[in-house]
Amino acid sequence: MNDTATSAKPHALQLKDIRKSFGNVDVIHGIDLEIEEGEFIVFVGPSGCGKSTLLRLIAGLDDPTSGDINLEGRRVNTVPASERGLSMVFQSYALYPHMTIAQNLSFGLENLRMDKAEIQKRIDDAAKLLQIDHLMSRRPGQLSGGQRQRVAIGRAIVREPIIFLFDEPLSNLDAELRLQMRVEISDLHAKLGNTMIYVTHDQIEAMTMADRIVVLRGGYIEQVGRPLDLYNNPANKFVAGFLGAPQ
Ligand code: ADP
Ligand code: MG
Repeated sequence: MNDTATSAKPHALQLKDIRKSFGNVDVIHGIDLEIEEGEFIVFVGPSGCGKSTLLRLIAGLDDPTSGDINLEGRRVNTVPASERGLSMVFQSYALYPHMTIAQNLSFGLENLRMDKAEIQKRIDDAAKLLQIDHLMSRRPGQLSGGQRQRVAIGRAIVREPIIFLFDEPLSNLDAELRLQMRVEISDLHAKLGNTMIYVTHDQIEAMTMADRIVVLRGGYIEQVGRPLDLYNNPANKFVAGFLGAPQ
């Protein structure tokens, strides 16, 4: 933030007419969306509708074909992923198998020129929060699926991102663990208060976790709203059918 920031709070994230094509295939068709600080937003829609692509554009892992991405009021189209202040958690945990859990958590923080004591404090706090403090000297291969996903989330937390991005983080877990982790991630949001964008094809996750749901289909937004509002007043049959609302 600079000194000339006005008193009106900028949106945490603003997407302006975002389009994305791969070769001559249009995948994202012009998305406009505003997300406020602290919101838990769920992008939901069937497989192939562009959820991951949109998240990758926000993260800076790929560039939009056109349109603007503004983070806290600042245009970040040309800002590299590592400098956007976002953390992403994937379905595959993407942990380093040869490193301990503690090393997995701290990896990359050294590059931010942070002193050792600060790094250790962030790791201790995240480990306690996620109840993985007893696993610090183990390696990923010695952990259960749920524990690994907690480490992946811990790795996002220690970076203290302005926005958390989750791409189907629970799809690899069994039904019982998925339910448990859903509650844990909601609790985490309540405790940390960060803006979170959560991608899923699972309408139950969307209905139970979201402050606002963004329903996507074929690279378009079908509807945006609070879970109950979408359920009670779906914009069309697709939204009603997808969310399991009466039609
Ligand atoms: P979702 O995450 O909702 O399942 P994706 O964002 O992964 O959907 O994909 C949306 C569409 O874009 C799909 O048709 C997919 O095949 C296509 N797509 C995604 N990434 C690429 C890529 N790198 N090159 C070409 N097509 C891609
Ligand atoms: Mg995807």
